[in-house]
Amino acid sequence: MRFQDIPGLEENKNKLIEAVKADHVAHAQLFLGAEGSANLPMALAFGAYLNCENRQETDSCGACSSCLKQAKHIHPDVHFVFPTAPTPKIKREDAYSEKFLKEWRDYLLKSPYGNVSDWSFHFGWENKQLIIPRQESRNIISNLSLKAFEGKYKIMLIWLPELMNAQAANGILKILEEPSDKTIFLMVSNDESKLLTTIRSRVQLMKIASFTDEDILSTVSKLDGITAERAQEITFMAEGNMREAFQLVLGGQDAMGDQFKHWMRLCFTFDFQALVKMGDEFQSGGKEFQKGLLNTGSKVMRDALIHQFGISQLERVPTADKDFVAKFSTVFNPEKVAEVVPKIDEASYHIERNANPKILFLDLSLAIAQIARSKK
Ligand SMILES: [Zn+2]
Repeated sequence: MRFQDIPGLEENKNKLIEAVKADHVAHAQLFLGAEGSANLPMALAFGAYLNCENRQETDSCGACSSCLKQAKHIHPDVHFVFPTAPTPKIKREDAYSEKFLKEWRDYLLKSPYGNVSDWSFHFGWENKQLIIPRQESRNIISNLSLKAFEGKYKIMLIWLPELMNAQAANGILKILEEPSDKTIFLMVSNDESKLLTTIRSRVQLMKIASFTDEDILSTVSKLDGITAERAQEITFMAEGNMREAFQLVLGGQDAMGDQFKHWMRLCFTFDFQALVKMGDEFQSGGKEFQKGLLNTGSKVMRDALIHQFGISQLERVPTADKDFVAKFSTVFNPEKVAEVVPKIDEASYHIERNANPKILFLDLSLAIAQIARSKK
């Protein structure tokens, strides 16, 4: 990954490049950005720039031996730590990053903008909670005790340090504070609030903004088989989230939208039996599916609200869904939307904490049905 592979974000790039030129590279940095932002790609591009043997004015060269290795994520001085879970083949005590390196490299090449469930899906373990286990702190220390093989810098890239087991996090505090010379920690996080304060206080913050519409549009427009109109639609719906944009390109979100529409129709018609059956289907879909569905729900509610206020330029709705949103907003007036949205958010919160999805969706369906039919 090079800086030029990431659209926009010139301010972040310049800051990183200037730090290298001025020889003022902080030894522990936190690349903080929302899901679907360039936080991980930016850390990868920075790592490549640090070790490039022939740095250019605004990017790594892409051609030296270090760049070629970093492009494949096989540079011996770049270490990766990321959340994992045991699988049928890998026991709990062996479930740490080194055992998943092959899958990880492949994942980075395919989905640098992906989230933790994309990663979990990639290595074949969809519904497990992923963590960075205690063992990992020992691995970090022993990997960093080695001399740099060939690079200028030894880099320890930790993806999602917020998923670190507390003992693992405490285990690296000392080395994080006083790493050996030319050792750089690059932490890539989506959620600063979940980071232990002991870690947070030891890293320099680099905030990565979400992408602008122009950045998304320029990326999506280059893809095969995407018309100019579809690229516009995707850009509006993605709202600065590159992961979402790629999901939309693949058509994933549309299926989710269909399922949401079907669910709402059952709520409106108060088809109790069908709602119970649907609860079963949602349960078997798994946690990420359930969260995605609720996410779509919040989005549609907001679209309906915007529609009612006639703010057409803000309406990030694909043409095919405009009718649905229009009809939807005849049922859900602003008062009703204000009642439903917190219920959806609450359901999301409980799903995250392993509530029983079948009961939860049935409760939510009944609540939505009641609000839809109430006279407000
Ligand atoms: Zn190079």
